[in-house]
Amino acid sequence: AHLDRIAKVDDRIHAFLHLDVDGAMATARRVDEKSAAGETLGPLAGVPLALKDVLAMKDVPTTCGSRILEGWRPPYDATVVRRLRDAGLVILGKTNMDEFAMGSSTENSAFGPTRNPWDTDRIPGGSGGGSSASLASFQAPLAIGTDTGGSIRQPGSVTGTVGVKPTYGGVSRYGLVAFSSSLDQAGPCARNVLDAALLHSVIAGYDPLDSTSIDMPVPPVVVAAQATDLRGMRVGVVKELGGEGFQPGVEQRFREAVDLLSELGAEVVEVSCPHFTYGLAAYYLIAPSEASSNLARFDGMRYGLRTGDDGRHSAEDVMTLTREAGFGAEVKRRIMIGTYALSSGYYDAYYGQAQKVRTLISRDFDRAFEQVDVLVSPTTPTTAFRIGERVDDPLAMYKADLCTIPSNLAGNASASFPAGLSPDDGLPVGLHVMAPVMADDRLYRVGAAVE
Ligand code: GLN
Repeated sequence: AHLDRIAKVDDRIHAFLHLDVDGAMATARRVDEKSAAGETLGPLAGVPLALKDVLAMKDVPTTCGSRILEGWRPPYDATVVRRLRDAGLVILGKTNMDEFAMGSSTENSAFGPTRNPWDTDRIPGGSGGGSSASLASFQAPLAIGTDTGGSIRQPGSVTGTVGVKPTYGGVSRYGLVAFSSSLDQAGPCARNVLDAALLHSVIAGYDPLDSTSIDMPVPPVVVAAQATDLRGMRVGVVKELGGEGFQPGVEQRFREAVDLLSELGAEVVEVSCPHFTYGLAAYYLIAPSEASSNLARFDGMRYGLRTGDDGRHSAEDVMTLTREAGFGAEVKRRIMIGTYALSSGYYDAYYGQAQKVRTLISRDFDRAFEQVDVLVSPTTPTTAFRIGERVDDPLAMYKADLCTIPSNLAGNASASFPAGLSPDDGLPVGLHVMAPVMADDRLYRVGAAVE
């Protein structure tokens, strides 16, 4: 039924880059046989899922939204993919994304943008716009995203779906093509809170193949996702994440969500996190710095595309020509910013300084979580903007990440939950919830109570 739905609507949405019809049908049949044989199956066995095209899936094209990986089929599964398979989930295909997860609109995909099912002239968020749009257009009930600076939560917010960025280290990064390794984290996307929690519990947990994986039990997310009240919970509204630049309709729905939290029994206070305002600036030095190093592996020798290999060019020329042809403008911009920020003479002034800001942001969180159990803000300052509106203005595009970035820099858990439609334009608004490291269950408790 989901493959039929995809055939019917995806030429208007473009959520998928590749469908694995044979693989999906084979998995579905296997689950059916097991069920007929009376085997006990997990809660998500047989449930279809859309996978962001940044996770390696054996023998299936994995492009990261880039020409430079065209034709590459990974010889192995990412740990997340292996866990999905073990739990019997049916992976329908790979979803569209900004090239190498750099962007907030999916317009940086080399294969054309994804459209927001609520209004197809608007962006579905990014970088994981394909995953969230597949949910909002009922092409898949579950999806996997990755979040380096907001790429699960912001697309969730602008498509009216649930998106959770687990604690850094909570979900394995093995087989997740690296953008910024100290920030990247895969997580669940769904249309409701319990579905997201079930998917979270399938993909989370210690993995010896990821050196930053946390060796601790997975927080009790499924139990938390069945909460009905918030009695005894202390909620902090982040003072710095509002005001100038936030649409009135977004602020109105956010205030209403906060009122609902107190009606449900939470104690709501205002909290100041003074360094959050510097998050964007620090992120846009740290993320490009790590990217400039991580993306060095795409050299025309190891993976996918190779240009100029005609016997007349040196190896160095082939690398240059391949990278020139294979990378899009945003990826090149980030590699240049990162290379510059890491260069001798500038390293202390840019990269070193950004790392200090990162520490100050972590301390803001530590101090806040001494007073409250979770923090809240809008997920993103505006609802879905129009396709093309910000493509020529990278700084305007980067502002979409204002509220989401602090949690990536500090590594704590965060999520976006639907908070109704903006009275300004009738488009979805998200409630952003931030919890301490390895307290991911608190996100689900809040999400379930407000749902
Ligand atoms: N929009 C942010 C960026 O462009 C975040 C991307 C992400 O989380 N992958 O870097």
